[in-house]
Amino acid sequence: MIQATEPLQQSVVVFSTNYLPISRVNIRRAIVLLVTEKAEPMDLETETYTEVRSPNLILQVPAYIRLKFQSAERIWKVPPVNRRELLRRDHYQCQYCGSRKKLTIDHVLPRSKGGQHTWDNVVIACESCNTRKGDQTPQQVGMILHTTPKAPCHPAVLFAEEFWGKR
Ligand SMILES: [Zn+2]
Repeated sequence: MIQATEPLQQSVVVFSTNYLPISRVNIRRAIVLLVTEKAEPMDLETETYTEVRSPNLILQVPAYIRLKFQSAERIWKVPPVNRRELLRRDHYQCQYCGSRKKLTIDHVLPRSKGGQHTWDNVVIACESCNTRKGDQTPQQVGMILHTTPKAPCHPAVLFAEEFWGKR
């Protein structure tokens, strides 16, 4: 039985074989990866370890591990444009005024003007902004989009950006 429960709450950053941070796993998962030799400690300058003790074993679990094999990259495709994915991309906020209430889907270039139902032409907008905008472009009604709509990117890329951004 493992006594120290607290270190088990901690997480370990997993790097790919080519040293890209790809995800964060809990320490149990990291131990499994290490003992099955699927991963090895990463040598960052300030390598830190979490000590995990059981009655007959003390494990030093590094904060960063690197997969030894090309991970079977989970196949990831750009998701189809739908409300759920769109809400996630736009952080559940109207992209014109920031409201979180009565959210709808807005076609930046209206469909009546040839706008497509594609990632770069749809945004989350609250009901009142959507009504105000009506069948026009944001420029025509003097509304400003706070983001440039684009397709969501690979979760590993987001993770890498977040990881390096914090250091
Ligand atoms: Zn709004």
